[in-house]
Amino acid sequence: MSLADLPPLREALERHDLMARKSFGQHFLLDLNVTRKIARLAQIGEGDTVVEVGPGPGGLTRALLETGARVVAIEKDSRFLPLLAEVAEVADGRLELVEGDALKVDAAQAAGAPAHVVSNLPYNVGTQLLINWLTGPFRPLSMTLMFQKEVADRIVAQPDDDAYGRLAVISQTLCEARTVMDLPAKAFTPPPKVASAVVRLVPKADPPPGDVVAALERVTAAAFGQRRKMLRSSLKALGGAELCERAGVSPDARAEVIDLAGFLDLARATLSTPAG
Ligand code: SAM
Repeated sequence: MSLADLPPLREALERHDLMARKSFGQHFLLDLNVTRKIARLAQIGEGDTVVEVGPGPGGLTRALLETGARVVAIEKDSRFLPLLAEVAEVADGRLELVEGDALKVDAAQAAGAPAHVVSNLPYNVGTQLLINWLTGPFRPLSMTLMFQKEVADRIVAQPDDDAYGRLAVISQTLCEARTVMDLPAKAFTPPPKVASAVVRLVPKADPPPGDVVAALERVTAAAFGQRRKMLRSSLKALGGAELCERAGVSPDARAEVIDLAGFLDLARATLSTPAG
């Protein structure tokens, strides 16, 4: 038997008597044409290692395996493991299943090689997982991730957009980020309340050093924590107007108009001593 001989996903779910659970953020993609498109957009191919969070019934997992990639799939809901084991049986040793919480699993160790991440993320932990992959010890080669549309918009937002904030600044400082696919709620079973979108993030070759990124997190937390205030006031604890002047940024501006370069200048300025 091969991957092509596996039963349709709906049939596999019925045979294993599996229903989606809200508490696990379960909204399944049961149309293999959609999951194949996501695998194509992720630019995954033979020889790649992919970490997939939340394989669930395995629709995206099947599409990733069809490319010839090796897949390490981390699933928290143990009910899906027997169904996924059937997929592993026909995957020529290229599917490894890890039962656990993706927030706690050491993904670098589980992958055992530099890896891409492709996932239809559980909405309740999606943003936290992205932040972990952007700033934590496991740095994926690329990330192709399904989010609620509202979160996707916050990742790719530009200055002056309503959705522009910390997530946009941190994501776009470290990665090239763009929305590659929009999906209506009805594409999922059961449909969520909101639309979704796939964002592809590719780490930049020359990111700022860790201390600058940590400073950027502090600056954006303060600036967007009081986004209607001028920077002289929202950044008061970090140096206020004096810090802005050293960074070459107007102290009268609000966070929402400052571009990536402006925030990086502010972050670097917090690390340098004020001129005496
Ligand atoms: N990939 C499947 C698909 O596209 O049909 C399922 C996607 S569903 C939106 C999210 C999946 O993540 C579910 O299978 C759920 O059980 C799993 N999940 C939820 N929280 C998780 C966590 N903390 N760690 C790992 N998997 C998790």
